[in-house]
Formats: sequence, C-alpha cells, structure tokens
Amino acid sequence: MPNIADNLTAIQKRIAAACDRAGRAPEDVQLVAVGKKFPPPIIHEAADCGLTLFGENRVQEAKAKIPDCPGHLRWHFIGNLQTNKCRDAVALFDFLHAVDSLHLAAELNKRCEQAAKVMPVLLEVNVSGEGSKHGFTPEAAVAAMEAFFEFPQLELHGLMTMAPFTRQPESARPYFQKLRELKSACEDQLGAPLPELSMGMSGDYEIAIEEGATFIRLGTTLFGPRSAADKD
Ligand SMILES: *Cc1c(COP(=O)(O)O)cnc(C)c1O
Repeated sequence: MPNIADNLTAIQKRIAAACDRAGRAPEDVQLVAVGKKFPPPIIHEAADCGLTLFGENRVQEAKAKIPDCPGHLRWHFIGNLQTNKCRDAVALFDFLHAVDSLHLAAELNKRCEQAAKVMPVLLEVNVSGEGSKHGFTPEAAVAAMEAFFEFPQLELHGLMTMAPFTRQPESARPYFQKLRELKSACEDQLGAPLPELSMGMSGDYEIAIEEGATFIRLGTTLFGPRSAADKD
C-alpha cells in the first residue's frame, strides 16, 4: 500500500521549493492527482488527504470508478480522446487537457451543445516532435486556436504537453520552455489570455513548475507504481 499522506507531504514541499526558486506562488500550481488504474478505495484515501482534483486517461475506467468516489471531487480528463467516447467524457469530466485535433474539437463541441455544457479545454502540443506523441505541431497551434471560434461550447484555457520520457528531469526543461514561449506567442496573436499550462509529471514536475506549469499531473510519485495496482 502506498502511503499517500507521506508522499503528498513530500510533494508539497518540493512544489513549494520549486515555486520559491521561480518566484511563484504555490497556489498558482494545481496538482492533478492521476489515480488511473487505482481503485476507488485508494481515491478515497487520497481525498482524505485533502486532494480534490483528480485526473483519468481512460473514459471506460472513469465511468466505472467516478460513481464510487467521493462526490465533491473534480475530474479532469488528461488522456487522448476518441470521438466515440466524447459523449461520456463530456458527462463525466469538467476539464479536458489534451484536445489534439480539430476533428475531436468539433465532436466535443457537438456533444457539449447536446449536454448544454461549456467545457474548458487545453490544446495538446507535440513540442518534442516524437512520433509517439499526440498533439498539434507548435507551428499549427495558432491556426488551430483561431479555428476554436467555431466551437462556442469549448473554452480554450491554454496548452498541454508531455515531455519525452527520461531519467534526467533537467532534459525536459527545453520542452517546457518551448510550451511557455508558445503560450505567449499565441496570446499575442489571439489578443486573449491563455492562463493555463499543463505540463510536468512524476519525473519532471519541479522543472515544469520552474518553467511556468499551472497544472502538474502526478501519478506514480503520489500513488506508487501502477504495476502494484494491477496486481489487486
Ligand atoms: C499517467 C499520466 C500522467 C502521470 O504519470 P506519472 O509519471 O505516473 O506521474 C500524467 N499525464 C498523463 C497524460 C498521463 O497519462
């Protein structure tokens, strides 16, 4: 069993130290607790530690799990969404981190309209250019955002990325810097603020905070390895 309370205390210290180094306020960084693969009792335990914001990356898993979790929690969808899952995603989640195509945005807009819901979303950008990653190229981001004016049910709040996996957190910094710079460039082009940057996971969140992350998405460092959850 992971000790979520101890893990969270250690994480909060690291968040505070990273904020200190960057001259930022800790309240400006929101921790998304990624409890994917972990069952409702573990989510209850995390909620008992005071966590309220949770992330999931599979609609089917979330659909089975959320009804068995405390009702006051907020759920963000952080994974890539297939168009045939949009209706459920719109019903289950109140924020989507990884809109990676205009085709998906159009489908989401339609489903939000049917549900009479306005959905805050982030655009996923493939900053590293790795073929395994989803998202718009940095060059395509502004044009994609302009296309969002066609989707009145979607509220664009900023950008999201995943840095390449590495054991050296520092090597993620250039990707986070690039997303921050892209956010400023998009704000200038659009003439509108984009307050959110979703970047940083268990291995690199302190670097992400130094580079301006407003959402960090933490799984393993909070809950322990997901392989442990699989064995349950
Ligand atoms: C699983 C996942 C995370 C959390 O990953 P950890 O390395 O376990 O912190 C963050 N973001 C996304 C999109 C994920 O799918």
